[in-house]
Amino acid sequence: DDAVFDPVALAEQGVSPQGEMQAVSPNYVGYESYRKQGGYALAKEIFEGKQDAESIIKAMESSGLRGLGGAGFPAGRKWRIVKDQVAPKLMAVNIDEGEPGTFKDRTYLERDPHRFLEGLLIAASVVGIDACYIYLRDEYHGCRELLEAELAKLKANPPFTLPNIELRRGAGAYICGEESAMIESIEGKRGEPRMRPPYIAQVGLFGRPTLEHNFETLYWVRDIVQRGPEWFSSFGRHDRKGLRSFSVSGRVNKPGVKLAPAGITIQELIDEYCGGMQDGHKFYGYLPGGASGGILPATMNDIPLDFDTLQPYGCFIGSAAVMVFSDKDKARDMALNVMHFFEHESCGQCTPCRVGTGKAAKLMQAKSWDQETLEDLATVMVDASICGLGQAAPNPIRCIHKYFPEEVA
Ligand code: SF4
Repeated sequence: DDAVFDPVALAEQGVSPQGEMQAVSPNYVGYESYRKQGGYALAKEIFEGKQDAESIIKAMESSGLRGLGGAGFPAGRKWRIVKDQVAPKLMAVNIDEGEPGTFKDRTYLERDPHRFLEGLLIAASVVGIDACYIYLRDEYHGCRELLEAELAKLKANPPFTLPNIELRRGAGAYICGEESAMIESIEGKRGEPRMRPPYIAQVGLFGRPTLEHNFETLYWVRDIVQRGPEWFSSFGRHDRKGLRSFSVSGRVNKPGVKLAPAGITIQELIDEYCGGMQDGHKFYGYLPGGASGGILPATMNDIPLDFDTLQPYGCFIGSAAVMVFSDKDKARDMALNVMHFFEHESCGQCTPCRVGTGKAAKLMQAKSWDQETLEDLATVMVDASICGLGQAAPNPIRCIHKYFPEEVA
């Protein structure tokens, strides 16, 4: 009951937030501990009008906090947009965490669930939310038990009048991590992305204006408001600002969640946070943003890893799932694996993605790739797919052509 979890302090000591406690540990910070440590005091002040909504939104805006699910939309701006909509307004929280290689939300949820719930309540209070829906990945059985138990404690002994909070289970579909597909799924329908506009901030869950957030974005809200926006933006390297929770996997000595400055390069991340490459493995390349974010060679090891910095190279950071591979691996195998994944996870709603991913996977099995046909297919998929899955699916093809051409010549 005296458990304390401070990922920033751990990161400053060079300890991975993931390494400190066992998964779904009895040591997680439960409701009583969290309250004893001052938890929910800030949300209560805001709820009781002792801090005005405008100053909180300004703090969020100047902290530079962006959507950490992958889209990177500025959180403060999103609060302002939804706040200005007509009530009733709803909130949908995405803990689907389906991006391959991503496990940061689970790490924080298993250790410090109330910091997230307090962030959710602060957002709800500031934006004027009537009901909150938390969408949790169904594979996270332990997290569900934990969250159900802690939500029950919060509701049994609330620090103030709570909005309705419902926990909904996903059903294993990657596409339900896409915000509008998640909303369809919460509504009880098949998880298929919606055409936009209208944006879900205006017409979202059950047709109401909806504030949609990833778990981790809300996780940082309390600290940003309490410690001040400058605290969050004081971190960062190479002209970038903020903290990022990198889920690092692959051929490194110490994989795990690494809370590190935004803008850190892959080489710095491997050397300073991951104990270097495994014995016998030479750094050869990396996926900077899960399955969707492209593939880069080790020679491009000095790019700051952050939102916007990877676009010029045809890549993006997404949810900061970094997969490191070595000279024992082939980049083309990664690309094919990823394409099989997209083929399997395509919701099938639009032809360029449904047919294109399957066709691409077949073409990518050839010893030497038909570059012209693959490029043609990639263009159609990018231009004509409804959502990010189909639009990002050709990234690995293009990265192999650009950065690893000798593998498919
Ligand atoms: Fe579904 Fe793919 Fe079209 Fe997205 S791009 S709506 S996943 S078929």
